[in-house]
Amino acid sequence: MEKNPTEDEVVQIVLDIKKSEPELGIAKLHNRIKGCEPTWALSVNRLKSIIRSHSLTDTSKATSNDNGATVPEEFRDRLYVSQTVSHVVSDLSLPPSIEVFNSQQRGKGLEVSGKLPKTESIPEGTVLWTEPALVLIPPISLVGLIPTGKACSYCARPLVSMSSLIASCSICSGRWCSTRCRKLDKLHKYIRHGKYTSEWSAIEQFAVENEWSAFYQYAYTLAAATFDDQDGDQSSKHIKEGVEGLAKIRQDIRQKADPQHDKNIFLGEHLEILWQEGYKVLCKFFAHMSTPSYEEYLSGIGMVNINNLDGSIYLLQSHLNHSCEPSVDVKIVGRTAGVKVTAKRNLHPEEELTTTYVDLKKDVTFRRQKLLEGWGFWCTCPRCMREQDLTLADDSGILSSKDNVASNLTADAVDSSKKKKKVKSKSKQKISEPPRVRKKSVTFDDNVVQIEI
Ligand SMILES: [Zn+2]
Ligand SMILES: [Zn+2]
Ligand SMILES: [Zn+2]
Repeated sequence: MEKNPTEDEVVQIVLDIKKSEPELGIAKLHNRIKGCEPTWALSVNRLKSIIRSHSLTDTSKATSNDNGATVPEEFRDRLYVSQTVSHVVSDLSLPPSIEVFNSQQRGKGLEVSGKLPKTESIPEGTVLWTEPALVLIPPISLVGLIPTGKACSYCARPLVSMSSLIASCSICSGRWCSTRCRKLDKLHKYIRHGKYTSEWSAIEQFAVENEWSAFYQYAYTLAAATFDDQDGDQSSKHIKEGVEGLAKIRQDIRQKADPQHDKNIFLGEHLEILWQEGYKVLCKFFAHMSTPSYEEYLSGIGMVNINNLDGSIYLLQSHLNHSCEPSVDVKIVGRTAGVKVTAKRNLHPEEELTTTYVDLKKDVTFRRQKLLEGWGFWCTCPRCMREQDLTLADDSGILSSKDNVASNLTADAVDSSKKKKKVKSKSKQKISEPPRVRKKSVTFDDNVVQIEI
């Protein structure tokens, strides 16, 4: 008597088999399942589609190879993900049924706990967690309003009216939009008044003049971590540890993945000058505390670039790896409220939680290029593999009419007007070893790469 297994049953057996034999390709995996469950009516195609919809393939390098994951020659020297450094934060508080893993292939990431009963899954729509920013950083467009009390000293919300909720500083002209913001603002007394106020102002001025958000974000994060440590306040002491646990990559290494890098021989030199000037300004403020070395500073700039979400740092959210078919949804619910992370589909024990770092409406070529520039990896997620096959088929004339993948190219060409040239994903020369897929971030420090020479 044949039985039609449920999707959940299939996912569970795939996870079970992959635990002992992670390298299995689809055909062998199908055979193993048949061996374990001889009465199941499960076609290879259905198995494939379930594996794809649950992103079960991208946890294994071998299965990616089975799918034909290859990196075109022209992109190979731009992969830098292997140079990203990251370690697990020791006392990270995790939501129920979520665990951190740190593997060679995926780096650091989050997954549904394997301790959850095998038959159980986290239902689609479940709010997995909400978290405020570990470091809430004012956008550089608003920092000029803070010293004069025109924007909240903590959350940077512009203060237009004289609301009774507004709290004022008794020492400087700074104000807060609420008593809560005043309480949360641990940095105010160190950067707005005190010994080094003018050095901090110089940092803000430098960031604003050069329209360099990442520089300000790094300085702010470093200050938050430094003073958090000095404050002796145990409840908030996690900033320093949290920041230390964030993935780090030197900005000069990231920069080499920029398509502009090879075209403009002066760009690297120009950026080097800017980085050094920034370092001098930064060191004046931190001179009497723990001054970072130049290398630590470059890693810090890279760190905020790859970890910030909407300009601020969220500790748990920053652990999420990328997939173009993400399993969770991340929404910013408010400046001080932070982010809400929700299950996008039923999540099974040991299934990885993934988010997206790029616009999912874009096509595979665009997404891969953005991920390569911003995070240094070549995406081999199931969706990229499917769309790559379609694009290649289309390029070689196998498909007679343009499908959605092809028509998206037009939209991308308009949207990516900043880029001088679209890089094509097709290439005859390929290597067989896909890079590790990991660590999230935002895009390049746009303001820096746009410098005109
Ligand atoms: Zn506020
Ligand atoms: Zn003040
Ligand atoms: Zn992808």
